[in-house]
Amino acid sequence: ALLTVGTACSNDREGSGSDSGGNAKGFAKDALVGVALPAKTSENWVLAGDLFTHDLKTAGFKADVAYAGASTTVADQQEQISSMVTKGAKVIVIGATDASQLSTQVAQAKQAGATVIAYDRLITNTPDLDYYIAFDNYKVGRLQGQALLDGMKTKKPQGPWTIELFSGSPDDNNSKVFFGGAMSVLQPLIDKGDIVIGSGQKDIKQTAIQGWKAENAQQRMDSLLTSTYTGGKTLDGVLSPNDTLARAIITSVKSAGKPVPIVTGQDSEVESVKSIMAGEQYSTINKDTRKLVAQTVEMVKALQKGGKPQINDTRSYNNGVKVVPSYLLPPVIVTKENAAEAYASDPKLAPLTK
Ligand code: BGC
Repeated sequence: ALLTVGTACSNDREGSGSDSGGNAKGFAKDALVGVALPAKTSENWVLAGDLFTHDLKTAGFKADVAYAGASTTVADQQEQISSMVTKGAKVIVIGATDASQLSTQVAQAKQAGATVIAYDRLITNTPDLDYYIAFDNYKVGRLQGQALLDGMKTKKPQGPWTIELFSGSPDDNNSKVFFGGAMSVLQPLIDKGDIVIGSGQKDIKQTAIQGWKAENAQQRMDSLLTSTYTGGKTLDGVLSPNDTLARAIITSVKSAGKPVPIVTGQDSEVESVKSIMAGEQYSTINKDTRKLVAQTVEMVKALQKGGKPQINDTRSYNNGVKVVPSYLLPPVIVTKENAAEAYASDPKLAPLTK
């Protein structure tokens, strides 16, 4: 298969295969496990930190869970990982702030005999990364592209539809994977003229929202509205890569006094689920953080015993140096229609769908 650097192609999977990681001898049952997470740019990261602290302790390990700060994210995270290596962590789980800036720290970990697992976000340009665990990000993007189209059809059965595109922070490897997945659905319709990008801004450099920050998305939407949507021109849909940015886009449109277009999202954040139930935001993605953390802890347990963690994908995620053995979970698209069903087992979200 043809693999592009740091992107994913989610078709044509193989079953589990051999891998480079693993720790033949295992390690102590109460060993230290480091978890280095990015800044709290969305609710899922807050939840992940809490769950890792709890689940690792319950499994008998010592846990060192750290978040990168909001402003000096890269340097913070580099220091935190080095300190975990120094303290003797046997496994280091990393949700990278910047995919391409951690190769030195991952190499340090490797040299010290620790296993490194990239969590949710791939770490690029390093041969030393052992595993990757995430919801299938390319699939997330495809689901977002399809939801945008389906949503617009509910309001206007025939095109051409006018849309705008937003993508995530350029330092997060996921951003281009989400965008690539969505564009794989939208591009054929753009080519046919069924979808028109009102502003013409379709390059990922133009659509990116630095730091996944709500205020940056709101600003970009404000300027798109003044540059392109004056004089009664309609905006049918906005591709938004996550919920935080979706709500910022909706806020911008509403304060300009315009009707809310179809807006996609991701993460099933509380405020966005409320917005979906109220008929404003159109869709989100359910990536149950409880499952992702639980599966990661399973990987740690397998390594502790000296075994190899379970993986289910050996071809989709190339980090520029190698294809990283991965465990991918399936993301689920959520709209008002299936929200009750999708969140039935989630005590926080289920009540919002009643
Ligand atoms: C995660 C998303 C999240 C975004 C911003 C991405 O890497 O996969 O779930 O919305 O980061 O925090």
